[in-house]
Amino acid sequence: MAIGTYIVLAIFLLGRGHARNASPHISPFESQPGNVPDNLDDNDFRNNGPTAAPIKSNYTEVTGWPSEQISLGEISAVSLDNFGNVVIFHRGNRTWDYYFDSNYQRKNEGPITQNTIITYDPDSGRIIHRWGANLFFMPHGLTVDEKGNIFVTDVALNQVFKFPPRGRQGRPSMVLGERFVEGNDKKHFCKPTAVAVAKSGDFFVADGYCNKRVIKFNSKGEFIFLLGQNPNMVVKSPAPTDFNIPHALALAEDKNRVCVADRENGRIQCFTIDSGIFVSQFAPSEFGKRVYSVAYTPSQSGMLFAVNGRDDIVPVRGFAIGFTNQQVTANFGNLKQPHDVAVSLDGRDVFIVELDPQKITKFVDRKL
Ligand code: ZN
Repeated sequence: MAIGTYIVLAIFLLGRGHARNASPHISPFESQPGNVPDNLDDNDFRNNGPTAAPIKSNYTEVTGWPSEQISLGEISAVSLDNFGNVVIFHRGNRTWDYYFDSNYQRKNEGPITQNTIITYDPDSGRIIHRWGANLFFMPHGLTVDEKGNIFVTDVALNQVFKFPPRGRQGRPSMVLGERFVEGNDKKHFCKPTAVAVAKSGDFFVADGYCNKRVIKFNSKGEFIFLLGQNPNMVVKSPAPTDFNIPHALALAEDKNRVCVADRENGRIQCFTIDSGIFVSQFAPSEFGKRVYSVAYTPSQSGMLFAVNGRDDIVPVRGFAIGFTNQQVTANFGNLKQPHDVAVSLDGRDVFIVELDPQKITKFVDRKL
């Protein structure tokens, strides 16, 4: 182990005993050592949680946005494209239910026939473009890179797709993984959840519901390195990279960080982009037991945005966190089942999508 790695680990262990994280972070599965069941899906936490307490926030909901309403299914992802437009990924008439297990039983139904990828004007909320019919079985992650390429993950197909800007009639420019085949090697995924793309074209894949790892690929889709994947992990006091559903990713390229929303461990962990060394962890008590997604803006010296999940203890909200001081600077929204979050480059606009109700909400900080 390199000396630098020892130092990072020492900093991490010391940090766990200090101020903000003084209380040990207890995993929701502490009493059940071992893997999270594969059938622990997006919709296992539909109960009613506590009512939201008064909030500290400059972010307020923009009522009437989007102005153009269409029928949407569970909305699993949101990302902003290189023009600031809002791109969402939804499941149409397909839902993540008991039919959806490790051996997907609805192959014969064919792909979702509705357009699953919708682009909205960020200001007016009118629909600019829609596509993505007859391609996907169970949409999950979506991100748009700097050139407008659209990366998506499908947790039924076990594949990651890269499409040219606007989808180009549904013809992908890159496909990783084998259709409907689960695996844990360099060519296969198991319910991959999300993608984050660097300016260089290198990208990270969070994989995902059953592999507990994050993989870095180069722009050609060739394997570079792996974070995580400890199949026999015991999640008590999880160490860095002992992921328990790495569910979303954010890049802070100005700080050389890739950050992982480690969902069932209720934490965000950040690693160096170039070498995958663990650097920092965000696990404020306000997150509760689950954190579903993370986004980043370099505005205000760097801010992370997150959405948490139901756990009967804390309200479900959006959060803004100072990247450097690690303080929660704002919380906002009275959410039910948020699944992804995106933030504008200037940090002014935040978009949150939910599975149920199938809803996209815009928040704005008018002081920014
Ligand atoms: Zn999910």
